[in-house]
Amino acid sequence: MQSLLFLQTKPGCSFFSQLTIDNVNRAKISLIIVIIFEVALLIRNIFEHGLSLHYYVIFYIVLLTVSVVSLTLLWWMPNKEQHIRFLDRFIFSYYVFFIFWGGALTVLDQLSYGQVTAYLSNVLVGVLMYHCSMRKFMVMQFIPLVIISFAMYEAQANEDIFLGHMINITVFMVFATIGSRFLYNVAAQNHMQRELLSETNEELEALNTELAYLSMRDELTTLANRRGLYHYMDQHLQVENQQVSAVILDIDAFKHYNDFYGHLEGDHALRMVAKILQQQAGAEKTFVARYSGEEFMFVRFHHDDDNTTIKAFAEQVRQAVFEAQIPHAASPFEAVLSVSLGVSHSHIATEVNMTQLFKEADEALYEAKRSGRNCVRYYEEVTIEI
Ligand code: GH3
Ligand code: MG
Ligand code: MG
Repeated sequence: MQSLLFLQTKPGCSFFSQLTIDNVNRAKISLIIVIIFEVALLIRNIFEHGLSLHYYVIFYIVLLTVSVVSLTLLWWMPNKEQHIRFLDRFIFSYYVFFIFWGGALTVLDQLSYGQVTAYLSNVLVGVLMYHCSMRKFMVMQFIPLVIISFAMYEAQANEDIFLGHMINITVFMVFATIGSRFLYNVAAQNHMQRELLSETNEELEALNTELAYLSMRDELTTLANRRGLYHYMDQHLQVENQQVSAVILDIDAFKHYNDFYGHLEGDHALRMVAKILQQQAGAEKTFVARYSGEEFMFVRFHHDDDNTTIKAFAEQVRQAVFEAQIPHAASPFEAVLSVSLGVSHSHIATEVNMTQLFKEADEALYEAKRSGRNCVRYYEEVTIEI
């Protein structure tokens, strides 16, 4: 009950802004309805009594004028953060005026026939359309209530009728208070849920990005894996008129390495080679990925036809690994780890071309292996044996 009655809004926080924006939108609807209603009442009055300035007519004109001006202002003023406080105060003042207006009409009604409909219906409009904190509700509803009750006491000659009105008004106000608290709490809960949802969405998005990153990384070497390579290719294949070069690299006699030093040392050697490859690729704006086991793939997109630079690059990589002098006592070829590389170059436009490019690089690699390893071969120089 405590939280139901005294849940507070903090001006300046985003809930207050959201609440005000919703209140403004509801106020526009109320104003349109009030304007239509008042115009209809004025027309009816003109038909019934002509153009006489009866005090009811003055009431209608006053409310109509204030409502038209308020609606124009609300329509004209954007719901921007810097206007929020003003907008809230403005619609709050409008509802206070609206309730006083209904109250004053009700007091006048007591002189001719004793009804409280105008006042209570305006209270109801205030409750339904302006969702606010308890403090604002008290100011908006209870100050007019006290003043109007005194005025009604003065205006209503029949004490029984006055007492009957007060009982009706009291019951109405109890439910109006509960209704107002309920609507305010629903707004607060909706806001909290929206915040929670947006926080969860942000966390999920960050998690998704991390997962996508991890799914494209090779755990052992931290280089891109095959999925990462294809993702990179997909992104760059969108750009038209690009040349692409591929270099596939395979560590020589790595099975011997594992057999001799053990798999753990083999992993360590793979990491060392990967580091060298990454340094080489990074310096030359080339993408590198672990293609499979002890095979790596470099790709480079460019706009010129010159494939001599990629050949020089492949040779540079081969030398860098060799010069790292990682001992390989069990190698039938060299006393240190060495690599063989196959190079292919293509004007690429489609995924089919990409597969073809990798296949050609692979054929060049096999040529390098056949040529004794620790060397670079180019696809255009490969003589395919049938
Ligand atoms: P070649 O010179 O013809 O390439 O000979 P190779 O022994 O390197 O070729 P092969 O394909 O027969 O052997 C590759 C070896 O790489 C076999 C496999 O155990 C090893 N390998 C693949 N992935 C890993 C890995 O993640 N860690 C370790 N330690 N070894 C791996
Ligand atoms: Mg291999
Ligand atoms: Mg190998």
